[in-house]
Amino acid sequence: MDVGVTSLYDLSYDELKALLASWGEPAYRASQLWNWLYKRLAPDFDAMTDLPAQLRQRLAAETRLYRLRLVAEQQSSDGETRKLLLALPDGQMIESVLMGYSRRRTACISTQAGCGMGCVFCATGQMGLLRNLSSGEIVEQVLYLERELRTSERERGLTNIVFMGMGEPLANYAATLAALRRLMDPTGFNFGARRITISTVGLVPAIERFSREGLQVGLAVSLHAATDALRNQIVPINRRYPLARLMAVCRDYVARTGRRLTFEWALIQGVNDGPEQAEALARLVTGLLCHVNVIPLNPTRGYPGSPSTRERVAAFRAILERAGVPCTVRVRRGIDIEAGCGQLRTEVEMQVSSPAPAAT
Ligand code: SAH
Ligand code: SF4
Repeated sequence: MDVGVTSLYDLSYDELKALLASWGEPAYRASQLWNWLYKRLAPDFDAMTDLPAQLRQRLAAETRLYRLRLVAEQQSSDGETRKLLLALPDGQMIESVLMGYSRRRTACISTQAGCGMGCVFCATGQMGLLRNLSSGEIVEQVLYLERELRTSERERGLTNIVFMGMGEPLANYAATLAALRRLMDPTGFNFGARRITISTVGLVPAIERFSREGLQVGLAVSLHAATDALRNQIVPINRRYPLARLMAVCRDYVARTGRRLTFEWALIQGVNDGPEQAEALARLVTGLLCHVNVIPLNPTRGYPGSPSTRERVAAFRAILERAGVPCTVRVRRGIDIEAGCGQLRTEVEMQVSSPAPAAT
């Protein structure tokens, strides 16, 4: 078993440097290795041809490269969405999704196995929290998808990364931030902050902290209700961080970063899709640089609600737009393979199509 062995993708550049220095290696080896890890995406240690054989052997003996193992892969019928079921070294499972449409290639990645926030309509929430992912386990999901794309799509890699898979990123704050910084590192993977979005259920103190990190990473807040009475029922964390406090930190985020905030709203027929909620939402966000992204609810097994009809979606949107609040309707994707928002839940009976061995 691998548990406890140093995973190279869990290390920051300084930690990697310290590890190699402790082995008596010259300083430049760290930057060579970093290059193989984050620019060349080496499939294994043997590929790292400018490292001496002895060092490669020691790395192979005492550290690990990729630790996520592909267990199953599914592709949506339109071919645009691929969902990967990945096993972590301790046997926990997570899902990552690759979406390829409108000339974007977006990785939707997980930050936790399961989630402890308990939003009633969300399949991941219905699992409960199993554990936090390490920064390396978050980073590796991105690199896995990037490697796939680079080999299959004529060298064109990911254009966007969204932290919208399983889990609440801001409940795993340290690992999420470390992963972000590593992915954005200009000497490594060099992914642009503006092409990354973190989605949060609304953990007020963590949003406050995130606003002060000085990053240009996009933030999406999953609102789903504009009154405390309703939000308490469907997004239980609202009982701890009610709307007034949430909106205050949202305003602060926009003031500090100058970035437009996204509010997410899953439209549930007869629950949060009526004119009162639309009007309450418009009042809540008055004067705030934001846009609202609505999506008809994706079905999950543990929740009886159904998606709003086309007419109700249009009516909801019209109220917002009349009030000057930009609103986009997200097209539901990957529903046939349960890869849509809030549908990710790992389960053993998942249909296996084209399983492939993971890289080392
Ligand atoms: N925990 C974070 C990010 C992961 S969930 C968050 O809640 O924001 C990603 C998005 O999917 C969130 O906006 C979430 O509210 C939404 N979502 C969850 N369940 C859904 C469902 N059944 N249908 C549509 N969207 C859903
Ligand atoms: Fe967790 Fe987000 Fe699902 Fe809520 S919607 S249970 S915060 S993953």
